[in-house]
Amino acid sequence: MSAELNKIILQGAGSILAKTGQMVADAIASRGRDQSFEFPDTAYFLPIIYALTGLPVRTLGDMETASVRAKELLAEIEGRHPGAPTLGDAAEAGLASLLAAEVILAIDTMQEQEKRPNQDKGYVYQGFIPDTTMRTLGVQLVDGTIPGIAVLIGAAPDDETAVKVVRELQEKGILTLIAGRGAGNSIADQLLRSRVEFGWESRIVVLGPEAVHALYAISWAVRASLIYGGIKAGSMIEHLTFQRERVPAFVIAMGPPDAELLAVGAGAIAFGFPVISDQDVPTIVAEGVCPNEALIGVPDYEKIVRRAIEVRNLKIIVSKPPVPVPYGPAFEGERVRKEDTFLEFGGQRSPALEWLRTRGMDEIEDNRVVVVGKDWQQRINQAGILPLAMVIDVAGRKMQTDFEGVIERKIHSNINEAHGVWHMGQRDIVWMRISNEANQAGFTLEHFGVIQTAMIHNKYGAIVDKVQVTLYIDEEDVIRIRGEAREAYLERDRRIGDLTDESVDTFFSCLLCQSFAPNHVCVISPERLGLCGAFNWLDAKAAFEIDPTGGNQPILKGTLLDEKYGRYAGIDGYLKKASRDTIETLNMYTIMENPMTSCGCFECIVAIVPEANGVMIVHRGFTGMTPVGMKFSTLAASVGGGVQTPGFMGIGINFIASPKFILGDGGIKRVVWMTTEIKERIREAFNKRAADEGMPDLLDRIADETICEDGEKLVEYMAGVAHPAPEMPSLLG
Ligand code: SF4
Ligand code: ZN
Repeated sequence: MSAELNKIILQGAGSILAKTGQMVADAIASRGRDQSFEFPDTAYFLPIIYALTGLPVRTLGDMETASVRAKELLAEIEGRHPGAPTLGDAAEAGLASLLAAEVILAIDTMQEQEKRPNQDKGYVYQGFIPDTTMRTLGVQLVDGTIPGIAVLIGAAPDDETAVKVVRELQEKGILTLIAGRGAGNSIADQLLRSRVEFGWESRIVVLGPEAVHALYAISWAVRASLIYGGIKAGSMIEHLTFQRERVPAFVIAMGPPDAELLAVGAGAIAFGFPVISDQDVPTIVAEGVCPNEALIGVPDYEKIVRRAIEVRNLKIIVSKPPVPVPYGPAFEGERVRKEDTFLEFGGQRSPALEWLRTRGMDEIEDNRVVVVGKDWQQRINQAGILPLAMVIDVAGRKMQTDFEGVIERKIHSNINEAHGVWHMGQRDIVWMRISNEANQAGFTLEHFGVIQTAMIHNKYGAIVDKVQVTLYIDEEDVIRIRGEAREAYLERDRRIGDLTDESVDTFFSCLLCQSFAPNHVCVISPERLGLCGAFNWLDAKAAFEIDPTGGNQPILKGTLLDEKYGRYAGIDGYLKKASRDTIETLNMYTIMENPMTSCGCFECIVAIVPEANGVMIVHRGFTGMTPVGMKFSTLAASVGGGVQTPGFMGIGINFIASPKFILGDGGIKRVVWMTTEIKERIREAFNKRAADEGMPDLLDRIADETICEDGEKLVEYMAGVAHPAPEMPSLLG
């Protein structure tokens, strides 16, 4: 590898550092050293600087300190091998560039905030990515739904190539973060001209107009090791190792790079993120970077995505049913608007439902899709509104009726992943649309069936041997089937309602998040779902049937050691091993002593409010203040990384209405404050539980952000509504 390139990288770093120094000096001259600054919704200050150096940047003065440190680091590097820097020198110079460039972004943001936050032109610049986004996408990153993160810099030679590359990433489910421009063009504009949809839902996000904005991707990635990895700020080597081993990111750079871009690219390489360039660049093989190449040139656009996936060693499982439209998770979030709709089902406009039921092996014919209705061929080929009963019959030797609901819930994403098709709701409150565009591409109602047979085989092949789909479009059929289906739904709900922690001898673990939080284990019981909210006991049970060596393992409860706190010998034994000896014992039903650990993707945080003798609950995404004097992001930063933090706990939102929710601490009567959004989402189930506890109006006695945001007012409010918590035994023992 050429020492020449290393030299250019060092020069680029020098020029970024000089720019930073100047910007800091100017900003201090006009605003003063004490001018404070923070990026929105983060507990990690300037995250790259914080993670790598431990310095919490709060003011312009701190930015000056950071830029001086970067300068000293570069000076030291330059002195090592004068005139002939090594690859290691270049990588470190890259890190110095990242530290400095993060200061540039902070000052830029500070100035922009005063002007206008965003330029909107069909896409909005994302800018800084908040902590919440990492937590929200956590599950998808660990379960492989998002198999990788591509950072796209520059511009493609033409619009067509830009679309081709991005669609290929999208079909593979890869999250694409875009920054910068080439000569008079940018990938974002190229995509915009081809009417590609932007946004987190579509997995195409534009970070900013300059190449340097790609840094927002790195500042986001570094929060994976801070949040999930529980790695301390300032432990540079640990952070870099975590990033290299666990964060599946890579860079695709289009167009000729300049020295500064090369310096930032070297920083990405130091993070273990390979850089794939469309230029004829020399290949750099860096020791320890996965699997071996750190910089490669792939001038062929047909191959560039495939090579990137190979180099970053991503596991991509693409399953595309035979439908005439693009298909993949990246299309799941798109909507079909009314004016673009060709055919519509349900949504109060016509009776519609979906129902999955178990049949005997010889009662159904595999992969058969039938439409039933008078003149159905004509009717499904003409625009309008139709009734629909989608009945999915499955059979299999390992199929259990308990799995019906689990598989039925997947109908939603199965259909939604088709481009130009939209699905909402479930059971007998579904609403579906086929767009004009999809219709023109040849997509018809029958494809709903084709999608289900293909995807159910694909995801549940281990338990389902045969799938047959019948689509009824005559109103009287639909109404008749709806009656039968409603009985089946009721029966199913009754069975689930009967499932309690006592009624089973086996709980399940979820180890998926261990790819980010190596010691974290979710223990999932019938009455406690995983803290991300995505997996309940039946899901875990089905997942174990499907993949006995996968991320969900059965745990025999064993002897009950403590009924009040929910402590079992079998679970303690399992946890010790599965947490790599970091967790000795677990209490399922308390927050105060050896509570469940948290990874980072919890839907809510429960925290004690000592002066109220109770707990408060705040949801992910809430940006206001809470009565414990911390915002969600700050609280969340201290509840994660797979450690037990008595008094604080991450939970799935539906756990709140479970009879086992902090049972040992007094249950839901301990809840003194909860955000309005949580109240709305669980109102019905919560009120039912409250009635069982003999206090049907408990929800109204619980404060929320419209009532107070601090402890003092909270206590006042509680006295006014006679909240039960103050009368309960002291939480602190
Ligand atoms: Fe992660 Fe727990 Fe959700 Fe599994 S259940 S994906 S371990 S948060
Ligand atoms: Zn998690």
